[in-house]
Amino acid sequence: MMKSRAARLLLCVLAVPAFAQQEAKPQDTEQWTPVPAQVTPADTPAAAPSDAIRLFNGSDLNEWVSSKDRTLPARWRVDEKAGLFIVDKSVGNIETRRLFRNFQLHLEWRVPADIQGDGQARGNSGVFLASTGPGDEGYELQILDSWNNKTYVNGQAASIYKQAAPLVNASRPPGQWQSYDIVWIAPIFLPDGSVKTPAYVTVLHNGVLVQNHTALKGETRYIGAPSYRVSHERAAIKLQAHGDPSAPISFRNIWVREIE
Ligand code: MG
Repeated sequence: MMKSRAARLLLCVLAVPAFAQQEAKPQDTEQWTPVPAQVTPADTPAAAPSDAIRLFNGSDLNEWVSSKDRTLPARWRVDEKAGLFIVDKSVGNIETRRLFRNFQLHLEWRVPADIQGDGQARGNSGVFLASTGPGDEGYELQILDSWNNKTYVNGQAASIYKQAAPLVNASRPPGQWQSYDIVWIAPIFLPDGSVKTPAYVTVLHNGVLVQNHTALKGETRYIGAPSYRVSHERAAIKLQAHGDPSAPISFRNIWVREIE
């Protein structure tokens, strides 16, 4: 049977090659639904166990270096009296002096009580569980004020940025300390650079399970799909100095236990 002129036209449209399609945009990889249910977390004690490496002891950043130049110290501001340190966005990302493979990590962070802005521009930072470059290369567990702050769900607090929304939203309001307890199993690469096993991450946010042995599709990407960009061995844990104009967040009580 002869195809109608309209049917032939439709076939032509469907056959438009990929290169003729629109350029990739950040919005392409934003997921907005389903929205994780809100859960009220209980208080969680979080003292370091005896075999942990203290990455921040409340008084100095000796365990940290500049991500831009690992020979330079991490120049974020330490408030020794309060036992915390504050992101300095002008300085850029900082990362651990030591390199890790598989680990259990505890850290606490606080968005300022008077935080302004919305969406991704409201208390944005992040933990790169393995850093593979000085900027935002690596695998980002998002830090953000997600208390009554709408954004794409795979970009809210406790998401694996642009990959996996948290199972629930266990956020506390701005001004309160929040904790992440993370189990990170690094990816394993074959000699040819291909992935033998992906990275896996389990995360408790304020003691509530939010990522359950999530298999990562690769490194975080702001635009485009995540992918394993580079084969790597041991890597630094990196904290993000996000460029948004909202007030900087604070960190305290950070410790890590290596898993052999
Ligand atoms: Mg971030």
